[in-house]
Amino acid sequence: AKDSGRGMHVFYAPGMEGQPAALLRQEHLLREAVLRQSFVLHYQPQVKVEGGQLHGFEALVRWQHPGQGLVGPDEFVALAESRGLITPIGRWVLREACRQLKAWHDAGLPRVPVAVNLSAIEFRQRDVVADIARVLHECDLPAQYLEVEITESALMQQVEQTRETLDGLQALGVAVAVDDFGTGYSSLAYLKRYPLNKIKVDRSFVADTPGDSDDVAIVTAVVQLARSLQLQSVAEGVETPEQLALLRRLGCDLAQGYGIARPMDATQAEQWLRALPG
Ligand code: C2E
Ligand code: CA
Ligand code: CA
Ligand code: CA
Repeated sequence: AKDSGRGMHVFYAPGMEGQPAALLRQEHLLREAVLRQSFVLHYQPQVKVEGGQLHGFEALVRWQHPGQGLVGPDEFVALAESRGLITPIGRWVLREACRQLKAWHDAGLPRVPVAVNLSAIEFRQRDVVADIARVLHECDLPAQYLEVEITESALMQQVEQTRETLDGLQALGVAVAVDDFGTGYSSLAYLKRYPLNKIKVDRSFVADTPGDSDDVAIVTAVVQLARSLQLQSVAEGVETPEQLALLRRLGCDLAQGYGIARPMDATQAEQWLRALPG
């Protein structure tokens, strides 16, 4: 209620008059969706490049829109961020991912980690570590099963606070993955300065491999960099067997993409867990 109150302030802020009616309508619907928690998580498998076994899932949020069906995050996360709504949405995502994982544990299914995306705005909040700790505690879920994905650009701002937050997550036992690696205007120095666990090679670098030799060079370098720094490497957007074969040659740890599995609802994700040995 505190968050939606803060959001309402933004809603009535001056400067909105010039906005197209459709955007205002979408904002109104999104605000309602936050109150009613009209969201759903889809889960995309991350598999071990060597062997192909399920490693874990990335949780991806969808909006159950009253007129447009399931709407993907690319169509509402930016709006949510600009209207003060990403914090309540992110809180729901975290809670739902942990609740689902705990339910799978309680059902006796194999225990795998789930990665949740944190927007820069959520990551910047002073109490983000305490919030995550509280959700884990409320869901009775060991921290080792939760991972957070933070974009490289979010990590580049406010070094001191970033370090404190990352130290806090590390102390909690929550792994951190650098999302969209290589797409930000960043120095590499932060990789040794911060406690991090994984690097996700951005989809844009994987897309044209193995045909494009520049992209092969970039993916090769990122996988080697991750290995030298003792970070796990995850390739995103793997669509073809040839891409997967390249990643295997390079020794990339994990892969994720339509060529392996599309994001799926919890029921289908559960089938992946049931198919795991042990
Ligand atoms: P991302 O973190 O880079 O997530 C991967 C996106 O790539 C997902 O799109 C996924 O469906 C898509 N994808 C996966 N494999 C392939 C592939 O082989 N080919 C192609 N073309 N695409 C693939 P989605 O679900 O639409 O999410 C888009 C972005 O929205 C995510 O990018 C992430 O930045 C953001 N997002 C998703 N869920 C959340 C959330 O709960 N909170 C926040 N703050 N952001 C989220
Ligand atoms: Ca991600
Ligand atoms: Ca990504
Ligand atoms: Ca991306």
